[in-house]
Amino acid sequence: MDLKDKIRSIPDYPKPGIMFRDVTTLWQDARGFRKAVDELVQPYAGQRIDKVAAIEARGFILGGAVAHQLSVGFVPVRKPGKLPAATIGVDYDLEYGRDRLEIHVDAIGRGENVLVVDDLIATGGTALAAIHLVEAMGGKVVGCSFVVDLPVLGGRGRLEAAGHTVTSLVDFPGH
Ligand code: AMP
Repeated sequence: MDLKDKIRSIPDYPKPGIMFRDVTTLWQDARGFRKAVDELVQPYAGQRIDKVAAIEARGFILGGAVAHQLSVGFVPVRKPGKLPAATIGVDYDLEYGRDRLEIHVDAIGRGENVLVVDDLIATGGTALAAIHLVEAMGGKVVGCSFVVDLPVLGGRGRLEAAGHTVTSLVDFPGH
């Protein structure tokens, strides 16, 4: 089975010129969802991971499944105002706009090994913001895993240039 065939592409969503890569069609397929999660987990199965930090909202579905399969904790990285306890936040640019992410200040302990998970990497701004938050709490980002990479937007290269290990399962040309 090719995971790429299960991902739906929607032109001009949410804005003209954006080709939205919709992973809900992958998730609704039992074998596709399992295969995607298995492939995200596989590189980290033998490594010491303490937490998966995943990005709202699509990252939660994948990150929750990955954390469960690795038997590690799960940490939500959320849009502003969504987390109930004390947070730290960071502003960042994304492919279609500007946004902010927050994390609970007590979510990650100093020295913990953290795997960052999201559905897709485009420019890498979102993932770099999540990495910043994890590192601000003293966590060590051991890897960043995505189902989809849009290589032309350069996010993977930005993360790798910053010294991070990036895993992605499917590439799409263009964006
Ligand atoms: P970026 O910060 O540019 O790497 O954008 C990644 C974030 O925006 C991820 O959380 C994605 O879910 C979302 N995203 C950006 N571009 C797309 C796209 N073409 N299709 C689907 N999601 C996207």
